[in-house]
Amino acid sequence: MPKISSPLPIQYSIDRADRIRFINEAWLQFACQNAGAHLNRAYVIGKSLWEFIEGEDISQLYGLIFKAVRTKHQAVVFRFRCDSSVCRRYFQLTVSPLQEDELMLSTHLIREVSRSPVPLLDPDVQRGEPVLTICSWCLKACLPKKEWVELEEAIHRLDYLGKGVVPRLTHGLCLECQINIEEELKNLR
Ligand SMILES: [Zn+2]
Repeated sequence: MPKISSPLPIQYSIDRADRIRFINEAWLQFACQNAGAHLNRAYVIGKSLWEFIEGEDISQLYGLIFKAVRTKHQAVVFRFRCDSSVCRRYFQLTVSPLQEDELMLSTHLIREVSRSPVPLLDPDVQRGEPVLTICSWCLKACLPKKEWVELEEAIHRLDYLGKGVVPRLTHGLCLECQINIEEELKNLR
């Protein structure tokens, strides 16, 4: 049974040079649960957002989104996934223009669904070779021959459980997400 959650939105803003200006309590709580307790306001404020974004593809994509919102002065809304090892989590991200090229990013959880634990997404698990690329936006995993499938399917098809090894993860962007996001940005007038 899916659990519907409606906690406060996770919000932060960045200045025109993409430095973090503001984070709300929900941002801190979420970051600490997922990345560690070292993330507090003193540590985060004033830092470049790019220090917190992993992967070249996803950085480029955020760059495109920020540029479009700043140029067209219009908000955009996207759906994305940010799972934990025990939950599938579906989020909506709104990027809104503020004054002087500042941007507000507001993320809220739309839906959270429990799943059987996936060690692949457990930050504390010990990892070995090989490396598996997952899409930062939809969390699909990239199989050989550039085929993107749901994580559970990738684990099954690559037989990670049989091999008893949890691969290291690297972040990328699947073609479908890239096309969808670029389409969304083109629709801004
Ligand atoms: Zn994707």
